[in-house]
Amino acid sequence: MYGLGIIRGMGITLKHFVDTYLDDLRFVGKRYYDSGSLKVRQGPKGAGAFTVQYPEEKLPMPERFRFVPFLLFEENDDGTTQDRCTSCGICSKVCPPQCIWIERTKDPVTKRPVPEPKDFHIDIDICMNCGYCAEFCPFDAIKMDHDYELSSYDRTSAHIFNKERLSKPVSYYASIRPNFFLAEEKVRAEENKKKAKQAAAKEKAKGGGKAKAAAPAKAAAPAAAPAATATAPAPAAAPAAEDDAAAKKRALAEKRKAMIAARKAKKG
Ligand code: SF4
Ligand code: SF4
Repeated sequence: MYGLGIIRGMGITLKHFVDTYLDDLRFVGKRYYDSGSLKVRQGPKGAGAFTVQYPEEKLPMPERFRFVPFLLFEENDDGTTQDRCTSCGICSKVCPPQCIWIERTKDPVTKRPVPEPKDFHIDIDICMNCGYCAEFCPFDAIKMDHDYELSSYDRTSAHIFNKERLSKPVSYYASIRPNFFLAEEKVRAEENKKKAKQAAAKEKAKGGGKAKAAAPAKAAAPAAAPAATATAPAPAAAPAAEDDAAAKKRALAEKRKAMIAARKAKKG
């Protein structure tokens, strides 16, 4: 009312104008390439208007920021690497714009699928950065990257990422999303512990079952001896059965002979 709002607004603008220069003086010499200063100036403690001088200055990305996905691989102590991806295909199924193609590895001898992708393609121009692939992957093998500087003049070859271009070590993931990484590792460790416990319980149960089975067998052993003695005449029964079969065969042969002789006599 009476233009008071305009005066108040102009006052705020003037304060920001002055703060901008005062803030510049506070951070003189630390402006470029200092993510700590950038964090303060862009955070709630920052004063004045502040323009990020991209590409000399880059704002630190929040952990949750997601750009195109990347594949994770483990680095083993012996220098080898192991893909986390098992080429199960879940990510390509859930991807809304269907921009993931996976080529499975096949065992050269058995021709059966091997749980490792031979190649993996993502068309990053079609990817809408939804993060569904990372959410649904049961092996934590695909995650959303922070790298947004992907522009190029060549759409056809530069923007269809293959496995080589997509693969990054787990340590990289830990560096861009430290809290997510720690939380996931905790869950993974708990799951492994649970699985180990279940396996141990199974083994124990198996061992117990075997011991139980062995115990009655031992107990039954003395009883089996008299049974064997009771069935002692059994070997004699076998030749008797053989005799029966031979007698039947003989009778049949004789019957056949008699029939042939009768037919011959009729003809004669
Ligand atoms: S990234 Fe994950 S969901 Fe996709 S194929 Fe590999 S293991 Fe399956
Ligand atoms: S982020 Fe979304 S659109 Fe991009 S590959 Fe993953 S599921 Fe597909």
